Amino acid sequence: MPDMHKNTVVVIGAGIVGMSAAIWLLRAGKDVIVVDKGDPGMGASYGNAGLIAACGIAPVTGPGLIRKGPGMLLDPNFPLFMRWSYLPKMLPWLIKFLSHANEKDTRRIARGLGPIVCDSVEQHRSLARGTTAQGWLTDCDYGFGYTDRAAFDAEAFTFSMRAEAGFTPEVLTGAQVREYDPNIGKSIDCLALMKNHAYVRAPGRYVQALAEVFRTEGGTIKQAEVKDFDLSMGKIKAVITDQGRIACTRAVLTTGAWSKPLTKKLGLSVPLESERGYHIMFKDPSFTLRSPTLVASGKFIATPMEDGLRCAGIVEFGGLDAGPSKAPLDLMRKHVKKNFPTLEYSGTEEWMGFRPSPTDSLPLIGEISGTGVFAGFGHQHIGLTGGPKTGRMIADLIARGGSNLDLSAYDPARFS
Ligand SMILES: Cc1cc2nc3c(=O)[nH]c(=O)nc-3n(C[C@H](O)[C@H](O)[C@H](O)COP(=O)(O)OP(=O)(O)OC[C@H]3O[C@@H](n4cnc5c(N)ncnc54)[C@H](O)[C@@H]3O)c2cc1C
Repeated sequence: MPDMHKNTVVVIGAGIVGMSAAIWLLRAGKDVIVVDKGDPGMGASYGNAGLIAACGIAPVTGPGLIRKGPGMLLDPNFPLFMRWSYLPKMLPWLIKFLSHANEKDTRRIARGLGPIVCDSVEQHRSLARGTTAQGWLTDCDYGFGYTDRAAFDAEAFTFSMRAEAGFTPEVLTGAQVREYDPNIGKSIDCLALMKNHAYVRAPGRYVQALAEVFRTEGGTIKQAEVKDFDLSMGKIKAVITDQGRIACTRAVLTTGAWSKPLTKKLGLSVPLESERGYHIMFKDPSFTLRSPTLVASGKFIATPMEDGLRCAGIVEFGGLDAGPSKAPLDLMRKHVKKNFPTLEYSGTEEWMGFRPSPTDSLPLIGEISGTGVFAGFGHQHIGLTGGPKTGRMIADLIARGGSNLDLSAYDPARFS
């Protein structure tokens, strides 16, 4: 009997990475079924800062983090938090993560992230062109706001890497900052502006629009939780869900921060943790910003979104199970008051989400152990940015059997 599912690819996870892969696979002629335990776009892809960070090549693990990290964690005014009861569980991950905080690895990671992020604005446009999703994309500058010029200069190493990748900022100081945007408070005295960026005015709704594009172009979306894989002679035959089996010859694992247990079912143990992040959406704000603006001292980006001014960022270590903490949100509010002192609003929405972070800050893209299951997760702080390019890479691997790009930096086998 002919195999009815010869052409079927199941994409597990309907975040930005999964929906991008699903659309490119469909356009490459595959039958594609997307499976998500919830609604599309409601994971990390919902609550991020919306920035398509084409210059976002610098990992969190920059040189000097090991020296500065403990002080940052103990300082209640620094936007790095730890749920201490979780520390023993994540210690092995943390040690490996910090082992990359040196110049050589930082440069290597930046070279790896370049192909994922540097052409991301074009990649988003290409994915969404001619569809209802393209209306959510807005061209912008990306402002890095510092308390003063010295704070900007202290990041010279990171900016030199960005310059090597083709991104050199225009630096404004003092009155020039207020001339650019009068709503930025005086506590930001230096603004490094990266041109030719873009942002998404409602990231969740953008992914939902992409899901609608996928359906319109012939794809199927099912709501179910994937529990396991059915392999025969080491090759995928079906995805096992809480609603039954879905037969396929290829699967794509785009389950973000939840990817570890499923990858383990395929015999691969990935050192993946969640970097928990927060947003506060200020509704009906008294002003909106000219561009998405990073408040460097608070480690969040303030983005003028469809539903208000969204401030999103901060890192908290604490795993996937615990609910939101109060301290990160309190600190964010304090920074917002300081840096945007004239902001008034009618109400707020608070959110916490999970960035999927492998120890080496590089996403996993590629086939897992010859099983026919392809990884597409681990994009940490740049998943919205890199989703469409990753989706295209995965579609090339599955539909064409290879990619024109060197994908070795993302090979899941590095964790074998
Ligand atoms: C506060 C914050 C700000 C951020 N700002 C930015 C930014 O400005 N720019 C940027 O590029 N990135 C940003 N990021 C990072 C970005 O949001 C993530 O990297 C990205 O959304 C990850 O996308 P994803 O598709 O891999 O995962 P997700 O969007 O989390 O999607 C994973 C999906 O898998 C589903 N799933 C999980 N397990 C299963 C299962 N067993 N069965 C079925 N379905 C399953 C989930 O329901 C979910 O829908 C930010 C993140 C945070 C937290």
